[in-house]
Amino acid sequence: MFKGILISKDEAGYRAAIEEINEAQLPEGDVTIRVSHSTLNYKDGLAITGKGPVVRRFPMVPGIDLVGEVEESSHADYKPGDKVLLNGWGVGETHWGGLAQKARLKGDWLVPLPAAFTPQQAMAIGTAGYTAMLCVMALERHGLRPQDGEVLVTGAAGGVGGVAVALLAKLGFTVIATSGRPEETNYIKGLGATDVLPRADFTSPGKPLGKERWAAAIDVVGSHTLANICATTKYRGIVAACGLAGGMDLPASVAPFILRNVTLQGIDSVMCPRAERIEAWQRLARDLDPAILTTLATEISLAEAIPSAEKLMAGQLRGRVIVDVNR
Ligand code: NDP
Repeated sequence: MFKGILISKDEAGYRAAIEEINEAQLPEGDVTIRVSHSTLNYKDGLAITGKGPVVRRFPMVPGIDLVGEVEESSHADYKPGDKVLLNGWGVGETHWGGLAQKARLKGDWLVPLPAAFTPQQAMAIGTAGYTAMLCVMALERHGLRPQDGEVLVTGAAGGVGGVAVALLAKLGFTVIATSGRPEETNYIKGLGATDVLPRADFTSPGKPLGKERWAAAIDVVGSHTLANICATTKYRGIVAACGLAGGMDLPASVAPFILRNVTLQGIDSVMCPRAERIEAWQRLARDLDPAILTTLATEISLAEAIPSAEKLMAGQLRGRVIVDVNR
């Protein structure tokens, strides 16, 4: 038996609870892992609270991230004792995830834990941080250089936004952040932002084109915010869109794309090919100051994950949340 969060949906409704789970119930997979830590991402918040249709099968163990040690493996690349991490691939949505003491998965989904990180540091980064890195890599592929001008990052008091600010600042970019939480201005500046603008400056319907300001942007919000960012991005600039914290819609015009040659680059971490994941984790080991992870992350127990998911959805959690599944 092992302990985990189980999400159920039946006549009694949608609910998440800590349960004792029989190992025989673990799903199919060629690697069994003793999980040490998982995390709470926005998607885990949606899954645990039921506020979004993230869970596709019931019962489900949530947790789109995990780190731990291989217990059993029939996969050629992994043997018992290996330290591994996992982000995405539908884990915590269609396949049992990381918010439990054990997981069984496809070895092809795993990434060896980079030597640069402790298990806790890897989860302080988690899917949010790895997605922030994918966004930065997209800006670089576009040819963005620090001398091109200011880079905007939205939702900076959250997970993706916080890591994106820290990465860009360390790489020498001038980062302007947005946040709906003025009380977190010092925290966001501590991550490396030069200035923090109010979230409300971006959330109302705007004009098809505005004054050109951003050389590039990383957006976790979507909706009017993303439309307004595209409208104020400089000629030949790029916007990496990875989130929907403000809405799934995109009430924009084509003006920035056809008159300013702006690129709107979508970012998906879930099905991202293995080679790019490994590159992203190598880049995180190189370009993220590990000391910043202490500022960015807080650690909670498995039991605290359920009430914390409600707080995350209410926008009351800052940065990243690591879950010690054995506490
Ligand atoms: P967090 O909850 O940690 O951060 C989201 C931040 O967005 C909040 O902290 C807040 O920042 C801001 N925000 C929240 N609600 C609103 C709103 N209504 N309008 C405008 N801003 C808002 O989540 P994550 O960082 O984990 O994820 C951010 C987004 O990115 C989510 O939508 C998530 O689904 C998506 N995502 C996508 C991935 C992909 O593969 N494409 C992978 C990972 C995440 P502040 O208070 O500073 O304004």
